[in-house]
Parts: sequence; structure tokens; C-alpha cells
Amino acid sequence: MAQSLDPATRQALLARVRFYRDLGLTEFYCRPVNTALMASLAAEVEEPQPESTPLSFQLEEPTIPPRKSLPTAPAIADAVPAAERAAAMQLIREELGECTRCALHTGRHKLVFGDGSPAARLMFVGEGPGADEDAQGLPFVGKAGQLLNNMIAAMGLKREEVYIANVVKCRPPNNRVPEPEEGATCSPFLFRQIDVVRPEVLVALGATAATWLLGTRQPLAGLRGRVHAVRGTKLIVTYHPAYLLRDPRQKKEAWADLQIAMKELGLKPPTKG
Ligand code: URA
Repeated sequence: MAQSLDPATRQALLARVRFYRDLGLTEFYCRPVNTALMASLAAEVEEPQPESTPLSFQLEEPTIPPRKSLPTAPAIADAVPAAERAAAMQLIREELGECTRCALHTGRHKLVFGDGSPAARLMFVGEGPGADEDAQGLPFVGKAGQLLNNMIAAMGLKREEVYIANVVKCRPPNNRVPEPEEGATCSPFLFRQIDVVRPEVLVALGATAATWLLGTRQPLAGLRGRVHAVRGTKLIVTYHPAYLLRDPRQKKEAWADLQIAMKELGLKPPTKG
């Protein structure tokens, strides 16, 4: 029964149903179905419906609820002189403080702000901290981070020369994808970091980073292989290193994406030996 749900579970379920609806997924299957609960959740989630349409029309062309657009990114801030970028980044960190703006803070050990040079030409954006990052307070320091380090080295760069940050600064429980509310709360800080660094090229690692940077949800496959424009900078979309660890066959594709980034930066891969 709907009444038997505690408020936290109810909120989590509502967020999840909203999230799937935003992705355009409107059909749910579960067993056993608690019809009273589903009806009550649907009533809370549904947007106001247009006036009723004749049944025959609905049967021919079922209506799909529109996808909610992502929140608009804040206006691009003025350029910060290279010598003042470290201080500007520190100000953003101080404003974040011991952040409690969303529920992710409750499971956090360390907030993971960012790492690298605030005057970098190249910036990587991931999804959110994992267990290692949460323990150390630094992005991409676990297994996926080791692969990212190798990718950076293959480009002929050192990790200290690039800047690395995530869409959310606190670890989502069980490394789940950040909920829309969490991304909406935290991503303005990422946008401000991007505005301070003003990289010539941004690389989105995976679908979550691409979604929040581009402000649109699209399958990764359709976003890879070309240069996008975001906040006055060039954006390349590629696979998340954690995905590449699970499916190393895609490394070749990721390398092709990184070569687009290198071309934009005028970089040549280091020669062996
Ligand atoms: N995965 C991410 O998206 N970010 C990290 O910092 C680590 C793993």
C-alpha cells in the first residue's frame, strides 16, 4: 500500500520515476504490481495533461510525455588572467565549502573538487567520484584514473598539465549515475571551473559528462567523432575510462576521439624509444 512507504523511499522512487520519464522511458514492468502505489506515484509525477482526446486518436497515436529539458547553464563568466586562475579556483572551492546542497553529502568522506592546472589547455570531465576518489579527495585516482593517466600520457601530456573535474563532487552511493537533482545542484560549480580554466579543448568522459555539458541527453554514439561547442570552448565526447576497462575493445575508438582533441590542440603523439 502507498501508505506503507516511508518518506525517504517514496522520494527516491519519485526521483527514479521522474528520471526514467525524462529519458523518454514511460513503460515500466515489475512483479508483483502494487496498482494502488503505482497510481499514487503516477499521480504525483504526471505533468498536467491537455484536454482529453478522443479514444480512437489515442489508440492510433499514443502520446509520449515530453522530455524535460535540463536546467540552463549559467552565463559564461569573464575570462580570468592565467596568473589569477589558481586563486579564482580556490574561491569556487571555498564557496562549495563543506557542501550539504544535495543528499550526496550524507555518504561523503571527502569532497572531490578537481585536480591539475587551472591554466590547462585541455580539461577532462568525468561523472562523479568513486570509492578511491572519495577516500583521497582527488578525481580519477582509482583504476579508471590509471587508465585516464595512460590516455593523457599517450597524448604526450602530463597529468599535472591538464585539469580534471566531475559533474558531481560527492560520490553517489554504489557509484550510481547522479540523479538529475544532484547534477543540477552541482554542475554550476563545474561550469564555473570551466570558465576559470577556459581550456581550448574539453573532453567529456562518458554519457553523464556529455549530457550535463551539452545540456541534452543523447546516446554517446551520436556525440562521438566530432567537435561540439560548449561555453566558448571545443568539446570532444568519448567513452568513460571505467567503460573501457569493462570493454577494452573500445579503446581504439576512444583513441580516435583523443586524436581529434590532439588535432585541435596541435599535439602530436610522443615518439616511442
Ligand atoms: N569516475 C569518474 O567519473 N570520476 C572520477 O573521479 C572517478 C571515476
